[in-house]
Amino acid sequence: MPSKAAELIRAGRLVAFPTETVYGLGAHALDPQAVERIYRAKGRPQTSPLIVHVASIEMARGLAAHWPDSAERLARKFWPGPLTLVVPKASQVPDIVTAGLPTVGLRQPNHPMALDLLREAGIPIAAPSANRFSELSPTTAEHVIESLGEAVDLVLDGGPTPVGIESTVLSLADVPAVLLRPGRITQEQIEEVIGPVRLGGAPEGAHPSPGMHARHYSPRTPLYLVAPSSGWGASLWLFQPEETACAIQMPADPDQYGAILYDTLHRLDAQGFDWIAVELPPDWPEWTAIRDRLVRASTVTSVT
Ligand code: AMP
Ligand code: MG
Repeated sequence: MPSKAAELIRAGRLVAFPTETVYGLGAHALDPQAVERIYRAKGRPQTSPLIVHVASIEMARGLAAHWPDSAERLARKFWPGPLTLVVPKASQVPDIVTAGLPTVGLRQPNHPMALDLLREAGIPIAAPSANRFSELSPTTAEHVIESLGEAVDLVLDGGPTPVGIESTVLSLADVPAVLLRPGRITQEQIEEVIGPVRLGGAPEGAHPSPGMHARHYSPRTPLYLVAPSSGWGASLWLFQPEETACAIQMPADPDQYGAILYDTLHRLDAQGFDWIAVELPPDWPEWTAIRDRLVRASTVTSVT
């Protein structure tokens, strides 16, 4: 018997669910009215495409007009996992899902609750992060409820999400493939499977008008980036409660850092400080995704 969550999804309602990256706000991907609810709940412009979550590689193939060999190899290597593959879309994928683009972003998430939901529902689920547009992504069920409240019909609580930052997004619509958003799966890992990959230029590479989303994943408190110190070990975050500046230490391991990044920002943001200053991790490949999210979250975006 399908779960309550699967029944709601099939009936066109909104269900927030944990993935290994962040919480997603899910709806029936093949039902345009259900997908429209996502945009309304988030206050998200309909020019920003949604990632479609699938239960299997086979389900992904059915949503693609063309499923390149590179997609097959990457999916076999990294799915279920934090890698979104952008491929030409099949006609059954509604335009509202892809913001009118001829391509669709597909991913099989690696989280037991997400996989159960996908299997029980038996349909692809469109799901952006479960927060209001331009806010920080949610990494706990509490974050989802704080941001979306009654706009969502059901929130599945799976505790904190282990990866903590959004998926890597790779477009296979062109050759060579284009990395549109860095994430836990790195450029190097992808290149080991399919050879050279190009970097997408804009902060929101996929978007037709990138400027619109330059400041994304942001806390309300002004966030400033400071240059990495020479003796990089673990980053120091400084924040100012009233007069005295305080500091907290973040993990020196990028995966551990990513896992707590948004929750740390959510907690600091709730305390009403004047500002938050973050030491930017070094320009090393393993820090690419963290640096990308910090730059997007920052008040001064010109820092590189
Ligand atoms: P979010 O679901 O909020 O984590 O963001 C989804 C991101 O996936 C978008 O901002 C795009 O960068 C990317 N994306 C989703 N679908 C497509 C697509 N059809 N073409 C290019 N990029 C896409
Ligand atoms: Mg988002």
